[in-house]
Amino acid sequence: MYKIKNYQPPQNCNKCDRLYKFRKLIKNDNPNWHNNPVNSFGSINSKILIVGLAPGKKGANRTGRPFTGDGAGNTLFQALLKYKLAFGYYEMNGHDNLKLNDCRITNIVKCVPPKNRPTKDEIENCKEFLKNELLIMPNLKKILALGRDAFNSILSHYNLQISKHKFKHQISLLLPDNKILLGSYHCSRYNINTKRLTINMFDKIINELVIKN
Ligand code: URA
Repeated sequence: MYKIKNYQPPQNCNKCDRLYKFRKLIKNDNPNWHNNPVNSFGSINSKILIVGLAPGKKGANRTGRPFTGDGAGNTLFQALLKYKLAFGYYEMNGHDNLKLNDCRITNIVKCVPPKNRPTKDEIENCKEFLKNELLIMPNLKKILALGRDAFNSILSHYNLQISKHKFKHQISLLLPDNKILLGSYHCSRYNINTKRLTINMFDKIINELVIKN
């Protein structure tokens, strides 16, 4: 068992100047929103880790819970409830009784980025938290990366070459420590609206998480 404390950034984190300033800017207009780094959701003892990109401005940055309050969250939580990786009911304001079942949700970048796009440096700055989280989860078996950046971040954690393991939807990879890495198109509102990712396609991915192998 690893004794690692900092798998979540401090709430006043200012490692990324641009993200720190962006949080403050949003706070001026919306003082009642979370406007801080967003901690992961779900037990550290879970077998499954779902890895997203970064909090959405009016989603996780508002509610303080990953994926809660935006289009991506609607798709994700609906699928998790369907496959019993979550119980209870989900509300977009986070005032619900949703509980994740053997599953945890995190982001590679913990603060909201402008235009939903963190820079390479911001991903790099936040890397230690994801790294520590991966090391500290004692029962972790499967990792689902939502989108290319999340997928490549997991490869980089394992020192695997991005050129040898090109991201594509439904890719499945056996990691050096025998965990399984799955890749999916991100369940963003944009991908759903453009039908790059359909609910059916996403359900198949979530089903992969629950089947035993
Ligand atoms: N909300 C999150 O917390 N992460 C994402 O990747 C998208 C929306």
